[in-house]
Amino acid sequence: MSSKFIRRVTSELKDLAKKPQVGFKIAPLSDMHEIHFSMEGADDSVYSGGIYHGRLILSSDYPFHPPDIELLNPNGRWEINRPICLSITSFHKESWAASWNIRSVLIALQSVMLDPGLGAVGAIELPSDERKRLALKSRCYKCLACKIDHKEMYSEKEEREREEKKKREEEEKRKEEMKEKEKTEGDGILDDKIDSEKVVVHTSSSDGVKQEEKGETKKKRKIKKKRQIGDKMVQSFDKERDHKRLRTILTLFVFIIIIGVAFGYGVKVRIDNSSSFGEI
Ligand SMILES: [Zn+2]
Repeated sequence: MSSKFIRRVTSELKDLAKKPQVGFKIAPLSDMHEIHFSMEGADDSVYSGGIYHGRLILSSDYPFHPPDIELLNPNGRWEINRPICLSITSFHKESWAASWNIRSVLIALQSVMLDPGLGAVGAIELPSDERKRLALKSRCYKCLACKIDHKEMYSEKEEREREEKKKREEEEKRKEEMKEKEKTEGDGILDDKIDSEKVVVHTSSSDGVKQEEKGETKKKRKIKKKRQIGDKMVQSFDKERDHKRLRTILTLFVFIIIIGVAFGYGVKVRIDNSSSFGEI
């Protein structure tokens, strides 16, 4: 066993122990060339609820040579106790990449399980009902070599799903509370706005009646003051205009009286003259 192989596999196993892959269990045997694993069947498939046990066989050239994979409990997708043909196993050395590792191989295996076997080496095509029956049965499997116990693993899965459900519900509840809070705060802001527009308090002072408006911002008060000044200017302008009109009417009235008097005087003089001529 080369030191390079040991370093690589040890590093991968440490990483898997530190960050376990959800739905998988790994159990290396004393000989690091054989790694046992159990994986959960994919959700929403005929394998859902099933747990499948197998082993990876690593050659001394790993990671420059792909591993072999064997399934060890009946699953309906692959034969058991014989190497299976996949693009990630030694059947296809040309498609293997040294950057792949135990974790990526197991994730790929779980995914490939959903594909049809298409007559590949080690593949079988059992009906869906049979695969579902085997999925149920697989929960009772226990490997005598590595001691992985599927009853324990399934209990852990149920516990994990309960926790996930609880988290989802808590998250939903928190979101609902946030929405309710935002709605309440929104209504509060609206109420304050309405109140600030409605509440007007009149107080007396030595200068007369002073109007004080509560709840308004400084900016609003400034705008209001400007408006008040504007209103006063308009009122002042209106008064001045009324005075002008009145003066014009009075002037016109006096002028008409003068014209009338002058006209009356002219008529009278003419009549007097006519009378004088008549007498002559
Ligand atoms: Zn085992």
